[in-house]
Amino acid sequence: MMQLKIHQFDLPLLHPFTISRESITVQSTIIVELIQDGVSGYGESTTNAYYGVTEQSLRDSLQQVRGLIEGIEMSTPGELWSAVNEQLDDTFALCALDLAAHDLWGKLQGAPVHQLWGLSTDANPLSNYTIGIDDIDVMIAKMAEFSDWPIYKIKLGTDHDIEIVRALREHTDAVFRVDANCAWTAEQTIANSGPLKSLGVEFIEQPLAADLIDHMPAVFAQSELPLIADENCLVLDDVQRCIGRFHGINIKLVKCGGLTPARQMIELARQNDLKVMVGCMTESTVGISAIAQILPLLDYVDMDGAALLKSDIATGCQVVNGICQYPLTSGNGLTLNSNCD
Ligand code: MG
Repeated sequence: MMQLKIHQFDLPLLHPFTISRESITVQSTIIVELIQDGVSGYGESTTNAYYGVTEQSLRDSLQQVRGLIEGIEMSTPGELWSAVNEQLDDTFALCALDLAAHDLWGKLQGAPVHQLWGLSTDANPLSNYTIGIDDIDVMIAKMAEFSDWPIYKIKLGTDHDIEIVRALREHTDAVFRVDANCAWTAEQTIANSGPLKSLGVEFIEQPLAADLIDHMPAVFAQSELPLIADENCLVLDDVQRCIGRFHGINIKLVKCGGLTPARQMIELARQNDLKVMVGCMTESTVGISAIAQILPLLDYVDMDGAALLKSDIATGCQVVNGICQYPLTSGNGLTLNSNCD
């Protein structure tokens, strides 16, 4: 039978991290540990103000399915996901469980998860490094601190967005992506797309508020840059609605409920010629190592979460200058630091 343990950590950030709607210096996170046959698998879900997820709400959700989980002998992660999904309406908690189930499954099989899926990591996309909103000189300094990354994702949503990108462009030839986190109007998005394209931006992530999705067909038709859905694409059911409104989707494991539904979303997106990105929250190496397993299936990836932290709680897959490095261990490659109990 499986055993469930819940750990909570406060992850200190290297720098305050600001997007259009909030600013944080510490990220609270829940680590789920699933134990079977003496082997531990780890999964993660961060708390999130925008999605109303707190440490308590995660603990409540996990307690709700403890009996179910501890009555199961897991054979595959998908089986566990389906059983829990029937009883739990909380993708963040579901994600932590699903990630732990994958790590455990791989460790029990004695191979990395991506290898068990038959994926080669040889042509992995490179990850961007995210620059949060700040005074322009601070944003330039942050970029300089991580100057060997090949791609930067710039958070926008100020009254001087183009000025920010223009200033950053003076200091690097790297690829830029921008993420407005719902802060723009349709008109602003169309107007910004041309200048941003000239400044070497490859796409715009979630320009409009999620409830303005009806404005997206017009933006889709007129934008000079591809548009990627984030806040508008949470779960599998949302993928269909992004067709004709966005050029691609940004899947996040906590939004959809883990690797199991993420792989279904990737498949559906591919069938509909949507580009696929996976993004992260400011999570630890536990969450990032799970993303690393599906990395070979992606066009774009934003997996710098652990790189934004002052200190980490685990070792596993590590992203160095945009390149994901895999440890020679099984599962998601995770070991929780010994001083974390
Ligand atoms: Mg985003």
